[in-house]
Amino acid sequence: MSVRLTNVTYKYPAANRGVNDVSFTLESGKIACLLGPSGAGKSTLLKIVAGFVTPDGGEVFIHDKKVATGKKDLVPVQKREIGIVFQQHALFPHMTVAENILYGCRRPKSERKDFLLQLLNEFQIEIHKDKYPHEISGGEAQRVAVARAIASEPRVLLMDEPFSSLDQNLRAQVEQQCLNIIRERKLTALIVTHDEASAQTMGDLIIRI
Ligand code: ADP
Repeated sequence: MSVRLTNVTYKYPAANRGVNDVSFTLESGKIACLLGPSGAGKSTLLKIVAGFVTPDGGEVFIHDKKVATGKKDLVPVQKREIGIVFQQHALFPHMTVAENILYGCRRPKSERKDFLLQLLNEFQIEIHKDKYPHEISGGEAQRVAVARAIASEPRVLLMDEPFSSLDQNLRAQVEQQCLNIIRERKLTALIVTHDEASAQTMGDLIIRI
């Protein structure tokens, strides 16, 4: 088991809305899609798994370790070994593509160059490695964002509508490429989407909320 939630609830104090009693188990090496309409609590759930939001009730496990229980975080964000990709790619604007990707890499210095080349090659972004985020397209930036999240070799990859800022054709193409890489690397991923068709093609498991 890689990620398990049992009866997780959360209400934003100001809004009286949030996440209502969600349970699921995501096995290692599988991809789960969190599917639901806007406002259903998908992003909030991802923040709970990441550790940015503390649940009011229920339990959260990552790789058999309890990381949060009602009103209490047991493991902080930086120790949960997660990789995150947001809707807007949020690359560091003052760093090149290569620097962005290597930002969270924990490999020894001697391995970094080969590791970077491998990722650049997989994501087909070698020619952009010395460019800055403002010099590349939206689709390329999103691939860099996924490569950067993978570069930290997380136990779980969390993605919040990672391709929704791209237009339809490009989205399908970038989505497919990133999903192939995630599968080949046997990563565990939890992906938020509000698109049923996307969830059907991407997910081994669909969690409806
Ligand atoms: P989704 O990702 O499924 O669209 P969210 O997790 O973003 O849903 O939001 C769930 C509910 O919580 C929504 O009703 C939203 O308006 C509310 N909400 C989200 N963030 C906040 C916040 N920071 N403060 C108050 N309410 C919020």
